[in-house]
Amino acid sequence: MGKALIIGAGGVASVAIHKCCQNPDVFEEICIASRTLEKCEAIKNKLSGGRTKIQTAQLDADYTDEVVELIKSFKPDIVMNLALPYQDLTIMDACLAAGVDYLDTANYEPPDIAKFEYKWQWAYREKFAQAGLTALLGSGFDPGVTGVFCAYAQKHYFDEIHSIDIVDANAGDHGYPFATNFNPEINIREITANGRYFENGSWVETPPLAVKKVYDLPEIGPKNIYLMYHEELESLAINIKGVKKIRFWMTFSDNYLNHLRVLENVGMTSIEPIEFEGRQIIPLQFLKAILPDPASLGPRTKGKTNIGCIIQGIKDGKPRTYYVYNVCDHQECYAEVGSQAISYTTGVPAMIGAMLMLKGLWKKPGVFNVEEFDPDPFMEALNKCGLPWQESFMPTLLD
Ligand code: NDP
Repeated sequence: MGKALIIGAGGVASVAIHKCCQNPDVFEEICIASRTLEKCEAIKNKLSGGRTKIQTAQLDADYTDEVVELIKSFKPDIVMNLALPYQDLTIMDACLAAGVDYLDTANYEPPDIAKFEYKWQWAYREKFAQAGLTALLGSGFDPGVTGVFCAYAQKHYFDEIHSIDIVDANAGDHGYPFATNFNPEINIREITANGRYFENGSWVETPPLAVKKVYDLPEIGPKNIYLMYHEELESLAINIKGVKKIRFWMTFSDNYLNHLRVLENVGMTSIEPIEFEGRQIIPLQFLKAILPDPASLGPRTKGKTNIGCIIQGIKDGKPRTYYVYNVCDHQECYAEVGSQAISYTTGVPAMIGAMLMLKGLWKKPGVFNVEEFDPDPFMEALNKCGLPWQESFMPTLLD
């Protein structure tokens, strides 16, 4: 059916590529392009021999011209940006210049300030619409599946949605004193930022990880969850009509938070450049270099993740509550694709978003967040492609 250019060869890209190769009718040909060619080659060597033809390329996606050149030579039907949020705009520019659809899993972040906003990418709406191209933003798990869950609830179960609590729990244990489950730099920038939630038309800001609750999650048990800002709150506050309150919660162990606090206190999580032995370094980037590579956690991680949305609102004039979630087992993911569940829960929805675009089911000119498309084919694909979901109409509520 089509050709995909996949940019990035890290944890998320590796899972997405495995999943593309499991769907060779849709992904007939892929090109894996990243900064370090050896990583692209390693994935290709693992997966070659199936029906999906794989080629690789060395690419620095910070440079639009390089991306345009590669698009023009490979001629993909879609570009899947699974590199880092810093490359979103250069890759979107390249897609416009070369006339191809775009997908990513995280919103653009300027490298020098930790800001999570869609404004930079939403500013491309006109350009993509005029070019007749689709850009699908945030097709991972959160953002991604969480937005699809909300759209599905809105379509099938509610006349009005009043509140959404997104709860992201990871009960996995990798045995290291401290490691992050995806790119440490991106992860720590997110966690050390102020918390923020949407209530009655405005945003309420809280100090980082200042609001804590305990929630008893299916198949995982009671966990400490902390209120954080997460990028899908911004688009859901607009796209889920009439919503009054949206919050995002994530689990962290006491051990993880103790390590993070020490690293913060000594300045290791800072993104301000410092002078070190005659050269400028960014402490957080140095920290990333000495922490375990998230891709190496796969064989060591045991336990499950549970990510879902607890939704309250009105149906046929009566109050209704609804909880939709996915439970994913780290070891099962590793057995299937050689990665832990955090990369798996992001890589699978990236493949599904691209598949729906290639099939023409999720295709319209402009820049869109996942909840702006019909959730049904995505929900069906989640069940078939390794992320089955469960639902409950009597969940425990957070307040
Ligand atoms: P990794 O750090 O494991 O991989 C990133 C990859 O991008 C690496 O192969 C890296 O190359 C490559 N890369 C970085 N800069 C460039 C560049 N300038 N040009 C070309 N390639 C580049 O990250 P993850 O796989 O964990 O995360 C990938 C994306 O997924 C991130 O944007 C992250 O924010 C997002 N994510 C989204 C989630 C969701 O649920 N929506 C959850 C988790 C992650 P090199 O190896 O040379 O450094």
